[in-house]
Order: sequence, then C-alpha cells, then structure tokens
Amino acid sequence: MHTTHFLHITLFLLLSISACSQATEQQIAPLQADTITHRKQTVIPAGAQALMDQYPTFIKGYSENHLLLADGTTLLYDDQQEKTYIERMDQADVEDMFTQPYDTSIWLPSRNYDPGRIRNEALLKYMYGQNEQEVRKHLVRVKWFNQQLLFTNINGASDSLQAVAKELSQLPASYHKYFSNSSTFYWRTVRGSNRLSAHSFGIAIDICIKFSDYWRWKNPGKNETDPITYMNRIPKEIIQIFEKHGFISGARWYHFDTMHFEFRPDLLQTSLKSDNQ
Ligand SMILES: [Zn+2]
Repeated sequence: MHTTHFLHITLFLLLSISACSQATEQQIAPLQADTITHRKQTVIPAGAQALMDQYPTFIKGYSENHLLLADGTTLLYDDQQEKTYIERMDQADVEDMFTQPYDTSIWLPSRNYDPGRIRNEALLKYMYGQNEQEVRKHLVRVKWFNQQLLFTNINGASDSLQAVAKELSQLPASYHKYFSNSSTFYWRTVRGSNRLSAHSFGIAIDICIKFSDYWRWKNPGKNETDPITYMNRIPKEIIQIFEKHGFISGARWYHFDTMHFEFRPDLLQTSLKSDNQ
C-alpha cells in the first residue's frame, strides 16, 4: 500500500516540475529578444567604466544596467531607488558608490559628504572573498616600517600599499610617528552598523591611532544623522601620497576616520575628471 502511494506522489511531482520548467521557458524567450534590441544604445556610466578599468580581472563589461562579471554572472548597477543618507549606506547598489565624487580639493567636508563610505557589499565580496576564509587565501605580507601587515594581493592592492610605504619612508623622520602600530585585515562590521568594514576584505589600513581622530570619539552620543564637529591631525602630505597610489582617505569624510585609508582606485578615477577640467 505504502509503495503504491509513494509512486503516485513521485509521478505527480515529476509532472509538476516538468510543467513548471516549460512555463518558465515560454516566459523568458520573448524577453531575451527584446533585450538584444536595446543593447546597442547602452551608455556606460562613469562608475561602471571605472570598475571595468581598475578591476579588469573581475568586471568585463556593462550592459542593460548590469555589470558583466568574469564568472559569467551579472550584478545590478542601479536599483533606481530613492534613498536617505543612511539607506544609501545600508542598502548601497553599485551606482550609489559613485554618488559623492572624491574631490581632492576639499579639506573641510560639508554635512554628510563621505565619498567612499558607501560600498556595495556584493561587489566587494565577489572580488575579495565571500567570507573570512576566502579573503585570507589572498592575503600577503607587506613590509610597513617596523611591521609586516596583511593585505590582499587582488587587484594589485598589496603592491600599491608597498609603494605607499616606500614613498612615506622618504618623508622627514618627524613623520614616522604616524605609521607605528598600524593595522589592516580584520573581518568585522563598522562600529554601530551591520555593514562589513573595508578591513574585512584586506583593502584598508589604519595608521597610528594616537595621532588620529574618529567622529564617534570626538562627538560622543551623536548619531550618524546628527550634525557633528570635524577634525583632523594627519598631515596633507601623507594623505596625498596614499591617494597617488589608489587609496582614499577617511580624513576627507564628514564622518571622519582620519587613521583610515582604503584601496579604491575606482572612486579616484571618477574623481580625476573634475581635477582635469
Ligand atoms: Zn579603518
């Protein structure tokens, strides 16, 4: 009795699956034809172009509001959602990463000007690793003054940090205090949020805390949406050397994190335009 019953159920399931897949195929076919017709008119946004230029191993193209990835999948570029300042950070699409151009002429950031603080986590996970174990596979040691620091070798990040170290070491000895007790890789979220820190991906370095300022320490009790008081003690020369090698500085942010430097040549590329004009 039980066996007959089981057979009936199995047969029913098989027929259902077959019916479903046929229906799906019929629905997809006309959409694909339509997509091809519109593909010719695609204009590549500056952000997508920068990602293709800076990360060619991973980002192979752009079409129909999607990045074309090297593994054959696609990633939505612009979700076309209206977002508040907080929502843009918590639910950032790729396009949101480029909404605030990184302007190297601004030393006193205006309210909520945080270029680079908005990150699409799916993109970073795709390039640098989906979890701590995957990220760790690509970490290499970089000689950093009297330390050895772990940094990802993906996208040439560790080579760029090594170039920064070399150039910083040529600054007068009075600058060297800024580089002691630096830290890099740490799989963790950003304080007071669920967002993964750039340190999780091995693409960020914090230089000496003693001479640095962080918006939460200087503005106790304030929320991310409150007006705060800005400050920075890191010399411009240091920031400019990092930027020359593809790193953005947390000293450029209204929500300042002046010890923080992050490998983001994509954002620097989109900002170069305004510099050249
Ligand atoms: Zn940091």
